[in-house]
Amino acid sequence: MTASRPGRTFIAIGSGKGGVGKSTLTTNLAIALARMGKRVGIVDADIYGPSQPTLLGTAEKPHAKNDKLVPVEVQGVKLLSVGQLVAPGQALAWRGPMASGALAQLIEGDWGDTEIILVDLPPGTGDVQLSLVQKSRPAGAVIVSTPQDLSLIDATRAVDLFGKTSVPVLGVIENMAGYQCPHCGETSDPFGQGGAEASARQLGVPFLGRLPLSASLREASDAGAPPAAQDGPAADAFAAIAGRILA
Ligand code: ADP
Repeated sequence: MTASRPGRTFIAIGSGKGGVGKSTLTTNLAIALARMGKRVGIVDADIYGPSQPTLLGTAEKPHAKNDKLVPVEVQGVKLLSVGQLVAPGQALAWRGPMASGALAQLIEGDWGDTEIILVDLPPGTGDVQLSLVQKSRPAGAVIVSTPQDLSLIDATRAVDLFGKTSVPVLGVIENMAGYQCPHCGETSDPFGQGGAEASARQLGVPFLGRLPLSASLREASDAGAPPAAQDGPAADAFAAIAGRILA
């Protein structure tokens, strides 16, 4: 993989639409990479809903040094988030140049010796995403999709966006695939299963793995306790996907 800055690699995490778990997966993959010994950062560029501070359980604000924002260190990763720059709810009011300026500050932050920076992109494939990709010049992109058709069509657009900007797509992750009932143990597929893998194959991009719909993942995420930080099957699943991203 080619580095997008000397010694530092940006990886964009995108999705065609919102609510598919892109931010949740970004947090957990960052922690999984950190547990593999990498120095990892997250740029939370999701101007429509910056959720990394919540997901990582921090309300700390970054300070500035030599006109650069110094990332907050939490759970073994460094974080700069749009959500740290504004009061809750304000991010939605941002328009073009203001958002662009803020996002540039995050990308050009004082990242020190950080090796890999995951960029949690806003959902969709519009101008904001395009300018972010141009600014951070990611070495690769990972697309998150749920298994159902509508999400997959949007994910295909995301693959197309990265193709047009010459960013290699490192692969697709299928999230919310299959649900095991905590009461009866039966597995059901509310959004179907295998759709993202089939789409990845059709698009000629790698399939990185799937994660089930899981109440405990949602609860832990809401509580700022990412499951990738605790030993267990969820952490193993994130580690396996993180390993494939690095491969
Ligand atoms: P996005 O960044 O794509 O908008 P989020 O990461 O914010 O999506 O996730 C949206 C909601 O779905 C959150 O409440 C999150 O906890 C939940 N979620 C994400 N992935 C899963 C999963 N595999 N199982 C259960 N809930 C999930």
